[in-house]
Amino acid sequence: MTGLRRRAAGFADAAGDLDWVIGITFGSQEAWYKARVGFGARGAEAVFFRDGEYWAKGAISMARQTANETARTANIGPVVLIGPPGSGKGTQAKQIVCRYGIPQISTGDLLRDHVGRGTELGLEAKAIMARGELVPDELMYGMVTNRLHKPDCRRGFVLDGFPRTAAQAGWLSALLEKELFDNNADNKSDNGSDNRSGKSKPCGPVVIQLMVDYNQLLQRLTGRRSCPTCGRLYNIHFQPPKVDELCDLDGSKLVIRDDDREEVIYGRLAAYEKQTSPVVEYYRAQQRLVAVNADRPVEEVTGQVFGAIDSHRGC
Ligand SMILES: [Zn+2]
Repeated sequence: MTGLRRRAAGFADAAGDLDWVIGITFGSQEAWYKARVGFGARGAEAVFFRDGEYWAKGAISMARQTANETARTANIGPVVLIGPPGSGKGTQAKQIVCRYGIPQISTGDLLRDHVGRGTELGLEAKAIMARGELVPDELMYGMVTNRLHKPDCRRGFVLDGFPRTAAQAGWLSALLEKELFDNNADNKSDNGSDNRSGKSKPCGPVVIQLMVDYNQLLQRLTGRRSCPTCGRLYNIHFQPPKVDELCDLDGSKLVIRDDDREEVIYGRLAAYEKQTSPVVEYYRAQQRLVAVNADRPVEEVTGQVFGAIDSHRGC
């Protein structure tokens, strides 16, 4: 059986299952079977049925390959990721980038990039930060607008850390509706593909909220340790080093970053909650919000995130 390695262990719970028809190649022959698909400990797995009866279960590398090809050419539109520190937002953003071939846009990176390159917006922001003030929304809007008009955003993009306030969310909606996808459709990609309908329609974001139990979040954050020598990250609860407090790779004594100290974490989480809840409410009112249970193992969370994008994307 090519492409279907039997993998009996680790077939996880049935949450989010779908019935799919999956093709399997046996040597030169191809056959299609009905399968119930779920996300197990190591990624997508399927339980196959033949004539309505249980037949086999295994990994679905071929089906995944086909799905990935589709994911990388379809219009995905804007994806907004919302989640507290420690929710795995960065990890999930990278998985989205990888599967859909769309860029991740973080306002922190944008700001550093503009300051680094000494652009007009960057110099302005630098002067403001040097006075110890917060970079005003108008400056960030300029940087975000600029970035979202780049050709690599034409099929979609992942916003990470933006919008942070209801005002920013409103601004983003206006940008998406009035400007962005119309203008972007004029930028033909190098290979000229995927521009079938001329101007794209306005396209609302898929907003994914990563939900993590508060105590679990505290454990994740307070358990974080990093190696001062090689930078490797550990978690004393979930990914401990082989020897207590020492890096597996170079034996350095692990340290706690200032941001991860218990007394700082409560403040960070409270500030996050206060700042983000209006954004969550904004998108909930627009019926754009998809909540994902991020307490699950990371591969399973990724499966749910992909599912949310596949079924809710706006264009
Ligand atoms: Zn190390």
